[in-house]
Amino acid sequence: MEYNQNLSYAAVVVADFDRTLSKYKHNGHVCATCHNVLEEGGLPGEYKEQAYKIRDKYFPIETDPNLTIEEKTPYMVEWWTKAHALLEKYPLSKEMLHSMVAKSTAKLSDIPLLVFSAGVGDIIREVIAQNSHMYDNMHNEHAVHDSDYFHNLSHRTNLLLMGDSLGDLQMANGAENVEAKLTIGFLNLRVEESLELYKSRYDIVICEDETMDVVNAIVNKILCIG
Ligand SMILES: [Mg+2]
Repeated sequence: MEYNQNLSYAAVVVADFDRTLSKYKHNGHVCATCHNVLEEGGLPGEYKEQAYKIRDKYFPIETDPNLTIEEKTPYMVEWWTKAHALLEKYPLSKEMLHSMVAKSTAKLSDIPLLVFSAGVGDIIREVIAQNSHMYDNMHNEHAVHDSDYFHNLSHRTNLLLMGDSLGDLQMANGAENVEAKLTIGFLNLRVEESLELYKSRYDIVICEDETMDVVNAIVNKILCIG
């Protein structure tokens, strides 16, 4: 299947946020996800203790290559429901978020896109704001599900999807009229045991890469700006 390279306007990029758009590692050090920013930030110890407990229960399930997406999904829903319910108990101002992100190790890679994430929206916004400039066409998950986002993009027939979990492959399920779809998976954890599975689901698998060089090269080619 080939991308129509003459129609740069005809491409849409859909990407997961944590560990896809935000880096897994920077200069050899593991970077913070949205929830890590909160866990490591200025919230009370009691919050951190509960948050780690929740994470330690569900994270191994998320990254277990022996479970199917269908088996994982109810646990993932349980995970973010509990994590967000816990977060709601602690007052957080925009100023606090700003300084937590500034002090954190969260790092962004620079690509224009639509962000799908179960992460914390305000943190994503801050990471993007502090690393880059905000794009007018950034929408949050609710905006996408509650609107005809994909319908309005139905003239865009080339789809580039990026994620770091197998569940991320379903992010663009609402996309219409897709003629060519390219999927790129970032594999950072349990690499050896998950590689074959990722290769069977994603078109391209990038393992433990700190750069977006491969992605940028592909996007530039698609958009004819390279
Ligand atoms: Mg992710």
